Amino acid sequence: MLVVMQRGASKQEIGDVEREIVQMGYQPHPIYGVERTVIGAIGDERGKARLQALDTLPGVEQVIPILKPYKLAGRELRKDKTHIDAGRGVVFGGKKIPVIAGPCSVEGLDQICLSAQVVKDAGATVLRGGAYKPRTSPYSFQGLAEEGLKMLAEARNRTGLLVDTEVMKESAVELVGQYSDILQIGARNMQNFDLLKSVGQLRKPILLKRGLANTVSEWLMSAEYIMAQGNMQVILCERGIRTFETATRNTLDLNAIPVLKHETHLPVVVDPSHGTGHWEYVEDMALAAIAAGADGLMIEVHPNPHEAWSDGSQSLTPERFARLMEKARKVAAAVGREI
Ligand code: PEP
Ligand code: MN
Repeated sequence: MLVVMQRGASKQEIGDVEREIVQMGYQPHPIYGVERTVIGAIGDERGKARLQALDTLPGVEQVIPILKPYKLAGRELRKDKTHIDAGRGVVFGGKKIPVIAGPCSVEGLDQICLSAQVVKDAGATVLRGGAYKPRTSPYSFQGLAEEGLKMLAEARNRTGLLVDTEVMKESAVELVGQYSDILQIGARNMQNFDLLKSVGQLRKPILLKRGLANTVSEWLMSAEYIMAQGNMQVILCERGIRTFETATRNTLDLNAIPVLKHETHLPVVVDPSHGTGHWEYVEDMALAAIAAGADGLMIEVHPNPHEAWSDGSQSLTPERFARLMEKARKVAAAVGREI
């Protein structure tokens, strides 16, 4: 339910409504607007009729239901875009478009530090690299685990970049949270609800990738799982979905960008590397994503893609990445953004 306060409602009245919401067993989510305050009352759907009675409290103008199933992620509660400050001045959802770049996997200290330096030189502000890898085959490289996390942290120390890395299981959330500035939930785990609840306990940005075969609505419900635990810092990442097309690894759904802009206040990042699966197509789709309104990019870059332990065929060389960034700056400027 949305409790819309009257224009000029006092702090005391707003506080009383929040306390009453808590008393009823719901979470209050106040949005302090310039004109008026709106308080979302979020919780168990079964007892929501009781919340209607809040309209009898002083200062309350009306109580209206939130129609969409994603209460916190939807636009009904929050009209303005959410800005997610990941640290060191890197903000998702603002005018500036942060670029997350780096190899698919962390392979060693030299490899990740060199990757970090080249992506930084080209203008990226967040280093990516998997230490825990969700591989289709159990015989493929599974990641360096905690050793990999330590290498990422060292690359961050040397370059000043932020770090984004995937967490695959609940029991690793605390550990990954100690090393990473942004925790990534991979496509294959988008509906691992216990994992979502667990990262919802953190107070760090979560980059939530779209599942291989999930609708936008299901994806937003997954964001809702994280937010319902109190972590509002969810960054959505479109990375392509499964279709009948086989010319590309996935079909990058750029439609999702304007749809999400309409449905949610959360920032949207696009990953054309997994979205296409071929380095030749990455640049074009990265530029298209910016033109369509993406709030960030995720690009796989490897110092030597031929030797990559995973996803080499979709990884850009440092030179190609630098060229992409040059063009991306121009497209961003054309649509009133910056990189
Ligand atoms: C990744 O970004 O490393 C990754 C495994 O991507 P996805 O979960 O989108 O397949
Ligand atoms: Mn990859």
